[in-house]
Amino acid sequence: MTHSRPSDPVRWRRDFPLLSQRVHGQPLIYLDNAATTQKPRVVVEAISRFYKTSNANVHRGSHALSAQATTAFEQARTTLANWLGIDDPACLIWTRGTTEAINLVAQSWGRNQLRADDLILLQQSSHHANIVPWQMLAETVGARIEVIPLQPDGDLDLEAYQLLLQKRPKLIALSHVSNALGTRYPVEQLCRLGRDAGAVTLVDGAQALPHFDIDLTRFGCDFYAFSGHKLFGPSGIGALWGRRELLEQMPPWQGGGEMIRDVSFSGTTYADLPFRFEAGTPNIEGAIGLAAAIEYLQQQDRTAMERHEQTLLQHARDCCSQLKGFRELPFGSDRVSLLSFELEGFHQQDVAHWLDRHGIAIRAGHHCAMPLMRSLGLPGSLRASFAFYNRLDEAEQLASCLDQLIQSQTTSTTVAFIEQKTSQNLIKRVYSATDWNARYQALMHIGQSLPGLPDALKQDCYRLHGCESRVWLVPALDDTGRLACQADADARILRALLALLLDRINGLTPAELLSTDLGAVLDQLDIRRHLSPSRGNGVAAIIQAIEAFARDPRG
Ligand code: PMP
Repeated sequence: MTHSRPSDPVRWRRDFPLLSQRVHGQPLIYLDNAATTQKPRVVVEAISRFYKTSNANVHRGSHALSAQATTAFEQARTTLANWLGIDDPACLIWTRGTTEAINLVAQSWGRNQLRADDLILLQQSSHHANIVPWQMLAETVGARIEVIPLQPDGDLDLEAYQLLLQKRPKLIALSHVSNALGTRYPVEQLCRLGRDAGAVTLVDGAQALPHFDIDLTRFGCDFYAFSGHKLFGPSGIGALWGRRELLEQMPPWQGGGEMIRDVSFSGTTYADLPFRFEAGTPNIEGAIGLAAAIEYLQQQDRTAMERHEQTLLQHARDCCSQLKGFRELPFGSDRVSLLSFELEGFHQQDVAHWLDRHGIAIRAGHHCAMPLMRSLGLPGSLRASFAFYNRLDEAEQLASCLDQLIQSQTTSTTVAFIEQKTSQNLIKRVYSATDWNARYQALMHIGQSLPGLPDALKQDCYRLHGCESRVWLVPALDDTGRLACQADADARILRALLALLLDRINGLTPAELLSTDLGAVLDQLDIRRHLSPSRGNGVAAIIQAIEAFARDPRG
């Protein structure tokens, strides 16, 4: 095994072509690794080589190319199995990712084994992928769900867990590492306790394997799920490992080719493990690409990588903790290199947008952990997630860019205050700006100075759905039958867009509005190019709601 020099992110970085990209004219600082990781060149090349030299369908071919593809595909399974300490590769089932792996267990094991009133334990901080499939199952079979809470410091509440175990749960679905907080939970211990209490345990390892190696033979869970794309491999591939004795009892959950032994109209018999769970043509190049990613990791010193990630995390914390209004979410006593935080006075979406303009990619929102965010009383957080290829100066730039945002808002408060009475001037500034930076500044000033909706109007009936942020639209006509709408949002950029739209529509008759192309207003300002697609969908939802009101104002 060749080890790279320890703590050598510069060298690791060179293996990842995408990291030298520029975004909005700035060098990319990619801190969204918990969403997906970048891929080393060897992964891209393995996929490309497969298509150039070995592409054929697997398992059922009767020619040399198919045999070659099958060998590569099954070798990929063995590579992953060896890496995870599994001595029986047939117990490693390819899936599209963690989500599909958990659904497989819920649909196959769960439907078959759980009965009405059986108890399923879920974890407060789990990703929706480890919540919703169990809710769907519980609805089908009439099972009950209870939740293992977190302590205020972010650690799992072990006492509460032990009390819940006394209720004899049938299934315990755990997260190895929280994707929203970064906390690493003591799943080996939790699984041991769970199994001693007679439960089957499943661990969602999506956020764990990108940071450290595990040995599944000694781990103690019954099922372990993970995704390739978070593990420096391709999208659309992942796996489920399960104990043979459980997998053998489980019926297939999807039918089709590849998973059968014999089919006739009087009945079908199924193939052995793992194929009975792999209906249809699999993601062959995905498996091969993922194996290349694992081989890449095996050639590195993972302990040095982990050490570097922890240094990055600590450095980011040191730099950011100096910032006014910076507050970390609770993260427990052990965590991976993930910083989940809020910036007081700023909506997360505005912060993420600001950072993006400076080339820094982070994630803002609920991170598919809505029950967790609700329990923390937050709509979401900002999440900077580091991989071994990130550099210390990138952590510094994150902090310095956040600082610039804080400073710019301190100065702009005065500007916004002075200009509040002359918001037409601000609107003019948006339209006359010659570049996006100037336009963005003007938009942020508008977003800050737009008078807010009174709380009494921030009701559910005025909430628009389909937006990442909370948006309210109060549609109304004045005495003369002209539009007099009000609106508000909790993200500044959306408040600004609402202000522009209201400026354009209020005072029009509904008929005049319907002959106005509101989308063109945004296109004229080139706004859509700079918004994330989900933010763009939010704006589209606002326009649709305004138009629906104009079509039927009394409806
Ligand atoms: N679990 C966790 C902890 C995750 O972070 C994610 C991805 N964000 C998932 C499950 C779902 O993974 P995938 O979308 O790859 O199926």
